[in-house]
Amino acid sequence: MRPDLLIPLFASATSLKGVGDKVEALFRRLVGKPDGVRLVDLVLHLPSGLIDRRYRCNINQLPEQGVVTVEVTVGAHKPPPRGRANLPYRVEVFNGTGTMSLVFFKAFPDHLKRLLPEGETRVVSGTIEWFRAEAQMSHPDHVVTREEFTHLPLLEPVYPMTAGLSSKVVAKAMQAALARVPAMPEWQDAAWLSKNNWPGFNAALLACHKPETPDAVLPGTAVRMRLAYDELLANQLALMMVRHHMKRASGRQLRGTGALREKIISALPYSLTVSQEHATAEILSDMAQPLRMIRLLQGDVGSGKTVVALLALATAVESGAQAALMVPTEILARQHHATLSKIAEPAGLSVALLTGREKGRQREEVLRAVAQGDVDILVGTHALFQDDVVFNDLGLVVIDEQHRFGVHQRLALQAKAEATPDLLVMTATPIPRTLALTVYGDMDVSKLTEKPAGRLPVDTRVLPLSRLDDVVLGLGRSMALGVRAYWVCPLIEESEVVDMAAAAERHSALLKLFPGKVGILHGRMKGPEKDAVMSAFKSGSLSILVSTTVIEVGVDVPEAAIMVIENAERFGLSQLHQLRGRVGRGSAKSSCVLLYQEPLGETAKARLQIMRETEDGFRIAEEDLRLRGAGEMLGTQQSGLPVFRIADLAIHGDLLAAARDDAALILQKNPKLTGPRGEALRVLLYLFERDEAVRLVTSG
Ligand code: ADP
Ligand code: MG
Repeated sequence: MRPDLLIPLFASATSLKGVGDKVEALFRRLVGKPDGVRLVDLVLHLPSGLIDRRYRCNINQLPEQGVVTVEVTVGAHKPPPRGRANLPYRVEVFNGTGTMSLVFFKAFPDHLKRLLPEGETRVVSGTIEWFRAEAQMSHPDHVVTREEFTHLPLLEPVYPMTAGLSSKVVAKAMQAALARVPAMPEWQDAAWLSKNNWPGFNAALLACHKPETPDAVLPGTAVRMRLAYDELLANQLALMMVRHHMKRASGRQLRGTGALREKIISALPYSLTVSQEHATAEILSDMAQPLRMIRLLQGDVGSGKTVVALLALATAVESGAQAALMVPTEILARQHHATLSKIAEPAGLSVALLTGREKGRQREEVLRAVAQGDVDILVGTHALFQDDVVFNDLGLVVIDEQHRFGVHQRLALQAKAEATPDLLVMTATPIPRTLALTVYGDMDVSKLTEKPAGRLPVDTRVLPLSRLDDVVLGLGRSMALGVRAYWVCPLIEESEVVDMAAAAERHSALLKLFPGKVGILHGRMKGPEKDAVMSAFKSGSLSILVSTTVIEVGVDVPEAAIMVIENAERFGLSQLHQLRGRVGRGSAKSSCVLLYQEPLGETAKARLQIMRETEDGFRIAEEDLRLRGAGEMLGTQQSGLPVFRIADLAIHGDLLAAARDDAALILQKNPKLTGPRGEALRVLLYLFERDEAVRLVTSG
C-alpha cells in the first residue's frame, strides 16, 4: 500500500485549479505519461533551463539583445490603421530616460487597454528588439503592477517539451503542485548528505523549480545531484530487493548427470569455445546450488549463446525437470525449435513448440504433453506464459534476447517466473556497464568474450544509393558462386504498411533481374508464408531475402554471406550491428554493404564510419551512447532500459555505483526496511514508483 503521506501527490493533475482535460492532455506529452498525469509527474519534471529577468535598467541603458525588466509609465495606444489588421498594435511607454514601444500582433484592443491603462506605472519584462534604432518589446512575457512584481520569480524556470503549452500555464500548475508536496522524511544517510552538502528532498525540489541562482537548473549542482541520487537509489534498492527475494525463493538442485550433455557435445559439428565452456560451467554450478539461479548470459551477436542455453536446458532435463526457452519473435521461436530439435532429439530429448500460431487441437496437444511431462523442452514466444500453460515440473527458464521484450511482458514474466526455480536470461545488447547496472542490478553475469574460431571479419562498405546498380551487379556475381544474401529495407515511417511497400518494391525489382531467386519477408505476412520463405532461404532455393527489420533478432543462416542495408543512415548503430551480425556466421568471407541516401548528416556519417571501423559490439554500444546521448538511448523503447526522470547517466553515472553500494548496505542492515529510516526508504520507493519491490519484501 502506498504510504498515506504520498496519496495527495498521486492525485490527477486535473485536481489542480486551471487544469482541465485539455491541458492535462498536453501535460501527458510534457511529462511523458501517455496514460495520465499525476502531481508527482509534474513535480519530478525538472526545468531544463531558465529565463533570467534580474536585469533591470532604464530605457537609455537597454542592451542590444536579451531579456530585460523595465519599470515604465504607459503612454499612448496606437492601434493599427483601419483595414490593416496585419500591422501591429503599439503601445508607447516611457520613463525619465527615454521611450520605447510594446508591440502586439493580432491584438485584442480591449484586453490591452485593461492590461496597460494610459498614465499608469507597469513593470514589463521580455525580450528586447531594435527596430530602426528604436527599442521595442513584442508580446512582453510579463506586464504587472509594482505590487504584482514583488511576487514575480526573476529566475523563471523553463521546462522541456512544452510545445503547445504556455509557460504561464505550466508555471501555475507547477507551483500549485509543489504546494501539495508533503514534507518528506529523510531517507538518505545523514553522514552521506552532509559529506556531499546536499539539502533535504523538499528543499532540493523547491530549489530546482524556484531557482534562486541561475545555475540551480544545471545537472551538476547539489540540488540536482541530491534528486538524481534519490532516483538512482530507488532504482538500485528495488533491483536488489527483487533479486534477493527471487534468490531466497527456495531453489532446487539441478545437478544433472552429464549424460545428455555429453551426447549433445559430441554430436556438435564444432567444439565449444573457451568462453562457451566457461559460461556453461558457471551456469551449471549455479543450477546445482540449492539457491535459485538468476544469471545473465551476455554475448555479442554470433558468439554462440544458443548452444550454451541448450546445455543448460539439457542439464535440467537430466535432473528430471522440464525446461523452457522463451524468445521474442515467432521466427526466432521456430528457428530455435528447429535447431534444438536437430541436436537434442537424437540425444533423446523431446522438444515442443508453442507460439501464438499453435491453435486449437495442435495447441491442446502440446499443452497436454507439457502438463503430463512428456515434453522436456518447450520453446516458444511469450505464449509460453499464458495462464493455461501448466508444466508438470518446470525447473529452468531461459529467456533469449530478453531486451526485446516489452516492459509489460517482462513484468508478467517476472510474476510467472517467481514460481520457477532457475532463470537464465540472454542478451546480445552489449550495454555499457553503467547501464547494465540500472537494468540488471547485481545479477550474476556470464560473458561470451570470443567468437567461434575461424570467423572472418565482415568486409563492410559504405556506399551512396547512387551506386545501387553496381551493388546489384556484384550481387549477381556472388549468387553465381552460390552465395546467399539479405537485403534489408528500412523503417521509413513508424508504419509497417509503408515499410512493406518499400520492401515489396525492392523485391519485385530484384526479382526481375533474378527470376525465382528472391524472396520477401515482413511482419505482416502470415506465419506459414514466413516459414516457407525462411526455409527456402535456408535450403538455398532462394538466394536473396528482401526483408524489413524482422530479421534483426537472432536469425541464423550460416550460409548467408552478404548483407545489404538500404538507407543505412536511418538505422541506429546497435541495430546496424545486429543486422550485420546475421552474416559472418559461417566460414565463408562475408560482406556488408551500407547504402546511404545523400546528403549524409554529421551524426549519420559518424555512425557509418564506426560500422566500418569495428565489429566490437561493446565499442559500438559505447559510441552509440556517445552519439545519441544517454538520455536518448535510455528513452528508446526498444532498448528495454529504464527511463530515468531526473538522473542523466552521462552526468550522474558516478552516483550510480555509490547508490548500488548504498543499497547493498541498507539491505544488509535492514532487509525488511523497518524503523524510521526503513519507512522513509519505502516512501522513496513509492515516490519513484518502485512499489513492486516493496510488495515483495513485505509479502515474504
Ligand atoms: P548468438 O549468440 O548470436 O545467439 P548463435 O547461438 O545463433 O549466436 O550462434 C551463431 C552461429 O555460430 C550458429 O550457426 C552456431 O551453430 C555457430 N556456433 C556456435 N558455437 C560455435 C562454436 N563453438 N564453433 C563454431 N560455430 C559455433
Ligand atoms: Mg541468438
